[in-house]
Amino acid sequence: MRESIGNPKAAVYKECLRAVEANSCLRCKAGKESIIIDALGRYLCRDCLSHSDLTLQRYDRHVPYIEHSLQIPYDLTKKQTQGSDFLLDCVKNKQNAFLQAICGAGKTEMTLQAILYALNDNKRVGFAICRKQIVIQLQKKLKSFFPRTVVKSLYAESKDDKDAHLLVMTIQQLINYHQEFGLLIVDEVDAFPYSGSDFYWRITQKAKTPDGILIMMSATLTNNLKIRLAEEGFRFYNIPSRFHEEEHDLPRFLWVPNKEPRSLVSCLKPIIENWRKRFKRGLIFLPTIKECDLYARLLSQEGFKAEAFSTKTVHKEAIIARFSVCDLDLLVATSILERGITFPGIQVAVVNADSPLFDRDTLIQMCGRVGRDQLDRHGEIWFLSQYTTISMRQARSAIKRQNRLRLKEAV
Ligand SMILES: [Zn+2]
Repeated sequence: MRESIGNPKAAVYKECLRAVEANSCLRCKAGKESIIIDALGRYLCRDCLSHSDLTLQRYDRHVPYIEHSLQIPYDLTKKQTQGSDFLLDCVKNKQNAFLQAICGAGKTEMTLQAILYALNDNKRVGFAICRKQIVIQLQKKLKSFFPRTVVKSLYAESKDDKDAHLLVMTIQQLINYHQEFGLLIVDEVDAFPYSGSDFYWRITQKAKTPDGILIMMSATLTNNLKIRLAEEGFRFYNIPSRFHEEEHDLPRFLWVPNKEPRSLVSCLKPIIENWRKRFKRGLIFLPTIKECDLYARLLSQEGFKAEAFSTKTVHKEAIIARFSVCDLDLLVATSILERGITFPGIQVAVVNADSPLFDRDTLIQMCGRVGRDQLDRHGEIWFLSQYTTISMRQARSAIKRQNRLRLKEAV
């Protein structure tokens, strides 16, 4: 088992350790409480499933030194510049930071100066985020901003980190690195699987160098995380406005008489037809994979070009590509698409918004898919439900509150 996963020829061998001891796991930093003895008499880590017969081979990755440059083809807004200045100041002063920014605020753009500073300080930079689709999209975006930098993406099927100064990866890949990143950015820390997980917290700490800087970002911040970060001495910054500085659209609640799919589709139909008249595409969110498949089929029968999109979808990239070039009217998705992915001119409908699977933060993220484009700053958001849940009310109130804060700051 290797700790640095790139080309071993380009790496300098550092040390070889037993992965699991009686009291700790060196691979995921689990303590005594996670170690058991398995049927073969080995120490087994219950958190990462490593055992004491495995060796952990650590390498120093060779990364060529270059002068990095940053090219942003547009001007940052005043708010984005403030966010960017905050993060740069944290990196310069070696302070961990938490950036809370509303969906569509342009968080990635706010990290660029901090990344440039760290790269030119000869630090390796990691950017970890929950989902593979976002990793792929983000790697391309960052590569365009840093033309001279080697930017690579890591996820289950892609493990090449050779010569990379900047690595964009799924959260799970952090386990392969030990004291690697001088700057580590973790986005969407309130999302599954990161949220509330001690395991991911530990591997994040392990992946950065002892004096490395951690930047965490999210649109929402739970109380538990806030307390933890405050205890760890994080500096906080909140950007309540979107990058175009216009207010966030509020969800409209549409009462439906029952949860019968055909009846719900007949409620959805006029909404989607209205979108299509205005050449807009829609994201339809549903609580479960089964419902996604069913609604994609029913909506296709109504004459819309619709595809289901969930963790079970086989050709995810191909479907995203078709949606991007407007070859589809609708993506019918589970919460898999609630974060990070950006399409211009999107409208949103959450069907069965009263499902217990949709909490406040999930609903806020879904609302945040609209109005993310400079030329398309607003969009419709519909919550279709038989009941109005506390989560639905809280999501709308949180967006209203951010809009009010934005107004206050603008004065
Ligand atoms: Zn472990």
